[in-house]
Amino acid sequence: MATTTRDRSTNQSAAAQEALREQVRKAGKPADTGQPATEDTEDTEVGNYFVANYPPFSFWQREQVPAVEQLLEQPSPRHTPLGLYYHIPFCRKRCHFCYFRVYTDKNAAEIRRYLDATIRELEWYASRPYIEGRSLDYIYFGGGTPSYLSPSQLHDISSRMKQLLPWDEAREIAFECEPGTLNEKKLEAIRAMGVTRLSLGVENFDDHILELNGRAHRSGEIERAYRHARAIGFPQINIDLIAGMMDETEDNWRNSVDQAIALDPDMVTIYQMEVPYNTTIYKEMQETGRVTAPVANWATKRRWVSEAFDRFERAGYTVTSAYTVVKNPDQVKFVYRDALWEGADLLPIGVASFGHLGGMHLQNHHDIIPYVEHMEAGGPHSLYRAYGTVPDERFVREFILKLKLGNVSLSYYQDKFGIDPRQRFADQLEKLQQQGHATIDGDRLIMSRDGLLQVDRLLHDFFLPHHRHARYT
Ligand code: SF4
Repeated sequence: MATTTRDRSTNQSAAAQEALREQVRKAGKPADTGQPATEDTEDTEVGNYFVANYPPFSFWQREQVPAVEQLLEQPSPRHTPLGLYYHIPFCRKRCHFCYFRVYTDKNAAEIRRYLDATIRELEWYASRPYIEGRSLDYIYFGGGTPSYLSPSQLHDISSRMKQLLPWDEAREIAFECEPGTLNEKKLEAIRAMGVTRLSLGVENFDDHILELNGRAHRSGEIERAYRHARAIGFPQINIDLIAGMMDETEDNWRNSVDQAIALDPDMVTIYQMEVPYNTTIYKEMQETGRVTAPVANWATKRRWVSEAFDRFERAGYTVTSAYTVVKNPDQVKFVYRDALWEGADLLPIGVASFGHLGGMHLQNHHDIIPYVEHMEAGGPHSLYRAYGTVPDERFVREFILKLKLGNVSLSYYQDKFGIDPRQRFADQLEKLQQQGHATIDGDRLIMSRDGLLQVDRLLHDFFLPHHRHARYT
């Protein structure tokens, strides 16, 4: 799922725009009531809640890009798993809560130019000494909407990619889909690429909620897409849900969880609705002078996710992180997430893509036209900012990201980084335990349900002092 600079007036009807405005007026708290949102009320204000990486993006710099170029001329570290993130920035429609860079107005010729540009980028990486001769261990097609591409585009692009970097032995090939873009033929083309993990962006099962929040698909398309995908035999199907979308109610949320359980997916990922900057909702809040977003407050969202977790557990699922429940955790893994958190290499292909190579974070240019023109002019890459982590930052990064799993081994960090988290984070761990957010049992640090469901908020205490209070943009 991903973002755009596109003028919203061009891709939303006047009626949809008015419905959004009405929601913001009705449910968002005005700035002039004298009752600003507080920690007690936990209103949802604008900003990113989710901690996706560390150090925060605002510390990544253009000046560090030459260090990535130098790294790529070094010999290949054959023991480090290599992944690839491929970004497809096209969507049928822009969701009101979306802050990714997505485009809803590109024609076939423009898409062709974009796909060709990504192949040029991959050609360059594949011929660097650091990458040459390695094969891919995991691949993630994200967006945007990867399933927006046609079967022939998918076949073409995957064939060209495989010629540059083989993925026959990849442990996982993950692919994000918007249910309304899928039919049998498209799903067969996706499976033929070798995709092992299909992720359906369901978000909610109610047509009113889907429409009000700007989603392109409707409930009937979810069921149809899911049944086709099951029949075709994808090894793993994940569905995404969002707790607390605009106009969400207790009954509706319960019903969405029931319907998700009835589908019987291998994994379910539940996000708590946030309203980052650059979203259509935020722009509407600015125009109407609202300080709180027209979505459920944080306490309600945590309760809804907790109740969903309880119901999934009763249906045979296991809670495996702050956001996921899994049907069979011994067999159903999420390689992309786990490899990335453990510091594996990841090539960033496509506009605005993120990557990680040899301990360096990297991100590509974030606008499609300069990205394509730059690659057509010979690139050789489109890196826009980077950050070379030091060992201590790598320790902090892996510690905080894995806290999201809710149950981690403390000796793992001693073995890998030579740092004992009990000593290094004595104060923070004491605070977590006093607040009832975690316990330590032998070697295990175990988050309570309450702690787990607000883990992203708690992670900032573990940041190095100069990284705290940074904006995640
Ligand atoms: S489907 Fe919606 S949320 Fe996902 S990337 Fe497209 S516009 Fe954004």
